[in-house]
Amino acid sequence: MAIQVKLLDHTQDPTKSLYIAYRTAYSALTPMQIERRIADRRITHEQMADFIERRLQTGHSSPLEQVWFEFGISGVSRAFSHQFVRHRIGISFEQQSQRYVKFKDASFPYSMPESVQKAGLGDKMDKTFEQLGKLYQEMLDAGVPAEDARFILPNATATNFKVVVNFQEMLHICDLRLCTRAQWEFRKVAAIMRSEINKKFPELGRYLQPKCGERRWGYCDEDYDAWQACPIGRKRPHKRDLFALFDSYRKGELIPLAESDFKLIEKEETFVP
Ligand SMILES: Cc1cc2nc3c(=O)[nH]c(=O)nc-3n(C[C@H](O)[C@H](O)[C@H](O)COP(=O)(O)OP(=O)(O)OC[C@H]3O[C@@H](n4cnc5c(N)ncnc54)[C@H](O)[C@@H]3O)c2cc1C
Repeated sequence: MAIQVKLLDHTQDPTKSLYIAYRTAYSALTPMQIERRIADRRITHEQMADFIERRLQTGHSSPLEQVWFEFGISGVSRAFSHQFVRHRIGISFEQQSQRYVKFKDASFPYSMPESVQKAGLGDKMDKTFEQLGKLYQEMLDAGVPAEDARFILPNATATNFKVVVNFQEMLHICDLRLCTRAQWEFRKVAAIMRSEINKKFPELGRYLQPKCGERRWGYCDEDYDAWQACPIGRKRPHKRDLFALFDSYRKGELIPLAESDFKLIEKEETFVP
């Protein structure tokens, strides 16, 4: 099944909402006075975006909880959904029920990982699920309630969501789930959520990055082997190396500049590209 993710609705004007929230914290003006200044264009969209940009570089994050995004998500596996619903703050889920929704015609929708196809085991998986579908139907026909018949359905079974997530939690989800350590299906869903927000609100969407992104922490905190194996790991320092560098600096143990380095500096040569 193909994964589909669509931004269904959102805070009407996230930039304005964030601006009013931040400004309320830092100004003598009331939120209503700030809103009036936006309405009569004494404060422009660019000014708001610029102000927010600077605030986003600080740890003042509670205004981000006031901006929400509503998504429809379909064609994802139950393997994905188990992980998705572990996020518990700033996100609210509604998921297709396997108690109230009975799969029909002795079959159920499911997704197949590429790795299974590549291993040449796709047909075997299809056939096994065909048998499971038949048994599921047999159970329903025998009067077994759907909530019990579902016990034989696999992790691959497809499911659908409608979720509401605030911007603060969306940043956190992207920190974790755009990281190459995350499972491929979650990476895919997080990437589409990101691109949906980016299309409408690029000034916010660009902050949705894995935690090593230049707009997030800028370094990797996963284990060293994972960092070495990561295809984008080389773009970012690992935290172990950052601390080691800081420690060497503090102890005066950095590799000293040598006479030869100073000779280089003195050369009549242009090094700047
Ligand atoms: C690569 C990867 C591998 C994983 N492997 C496993 C695994 O093997 N087994 C497993 O069980 N789970 C696993 N998880 C799930 C993980 O442990 C979290 O449950 C999941 O990522 C949800 O994130 P969160 O806890 O940050 O929740 P969110 O709801 O997204 O929480 C947001 C933040 O709020 C704060 N917070 C939330 N609740 C509390 C609380 N009760 N007390 C204090 N602070 C709180 C925390 O700072 C938290 O980071 C894995 C996750 C990832 C990304």
